[in-house]
Amino acid sequence: MTDSPGSRFAATLDRVFAAHPYYRGLFARQGLGRDDLGGVADLARIPVTPKTAFIAAPADFVLGPEGARHNDETVVWDTMYTTGSTGAPTPFVSTAYDFPNILALQQAMMRLRGVGPDDSVLNLFPLTAIPHGAFARAQHACAAIGIPVTSPMPGRASLRWPALGQRLDAVVATAARVRPTIMWGVPSYLRRVLGRAEELAVPLPTVRLAFVTGEGFGEAARTAMLAQLRRLGAPAPAISVSYGATEMQGGMVECTAGAGYHNPAPEQYLFEAVDPDTHAPVADGDEGLLLLTHLDRRGTVLLRYALGDVARLTRAPCPHCGARTERLMSIPRRVDGLVKIRGMLVNPAVLVDAIAGEPGVSECQAVLERENPADPHSMDRLVLKLVPQGDAPGLAERLAARVRSAVGVTPVVEIVGADDPVFAGRGWKATALVDLRGGGGG
Ligand SMILES: [Zn+2]
Repeated sequence: MTDSPGSRFAATLDRVFAAHPYYRGLFARQGLGRDDLGGVADLARIPVTPKTAFIAAPADFVLGPEGARHNDETVVWDTMYTTGSTGAPTPFVSTAYDFPNILALQQAMMRLRGVGPDDSVLNLFPLTAIPHGAFARAQHACAAIGIPVTSPMPGRASLRWPALGQRLDAVVATAARVRPTIMWGVPSYLRRVLGRAEELAVPLPTVRLAFVTGEGFGEAARTAMLAQLRRLGAPAPAISVSYGATEMQGGMVECTAGAGYHNPAPEQYLFEAVDPDTHAPVADGDEGLLLLTHLDRRGTVLLRYALGDVARLTRAPCPHCGARTERLMSIPRRVDGLVKIRGMLVNPAVLVDAIAGEPGVSECQAVLERENPADPHSMDRLVLKLVPQGDAPGLAERLAARVRSAVGVTPVVEIVGADDPVFAGRGWKATALVDLRGGGGG
């Protein structure tokens, strides 16, 4: 590719004006012509696209064939789905034009995370009932950088083919056999695999990196997982956190712990931070609503799309790796993500992190309910349903104290078996906090 990022964005805009149902309508209403949008500098003229608009009519965000120069711009390579909080999963379409971009993005992510030619990956994402990206893209990332990957497909991969996929103990055995240097997955499941390896006294001394997503993964969780890896014989483990999005088909990643989350492909994606109410740009380093713009896409195309999170964005070069790209200086959090428990405003991420920092917990779900479900004015109750890891004396008291000190609410701790319905048959994104109170809550 010799075209500059500017010419790639110009080509994307040409196609948007010719063939994008949503933006053609929006631009007509706004009186915006193709000449009004010369490039990235004019982006602020485009109104913010709320996530609700995309979820309501995802087909309106896929480019039609008008103006396509090659059939790779219209042939669908794959479709991934966002989990979505309610309703049907939202399709995100990638064409044959987009797929090499995704490989280049994954390659850049691997390089930022310090992956080398001698690494090998254990892909712990399960095969999901509908395509979510993580399972497939972890394999694509390894292909893009030319290293081996083993994908044990944890859990029951398919109801029709029960022999597909591996149970927890088989996953641990696979890890011991293939000796990966990188374990990649959802934090809760990764913690389960490491916990089971400890119980079975299966060492994992080759592991040097764990790749996790940022959801509910803070400093306490990082410290606890590092200790777990060291107990399994890893001499110098590190954890690399990413802030991923279906709308990116990848994620913003750390080059080193604490360096912030880098935009790995500035020629494909542009991030802005704006005031959540006025949508005016915020100063570099100030917290703002995150917007994503696709600079070089042909399937689903989003411009100034609000990812639904706020974070502190900076464009200053990274002091660690020197990258000159947008970086998030804080783990993004949902704008509307705070919950009120007994009048206390609680950040669920802080609650999840406090639970994750307790080494005796194999699985946990937090449930918010009313003490008397029939009475909307009755007191809130925070219940932690958990599966202990092995024999863990004093766990309930210890965890209650830890949660109380983190979020100011004392939970009721219920210890359940791993076969409890809460933990059976759940998807790869475990619901960390379930609110059963109805209405706005306390
Ligand atoms: Zn860096």
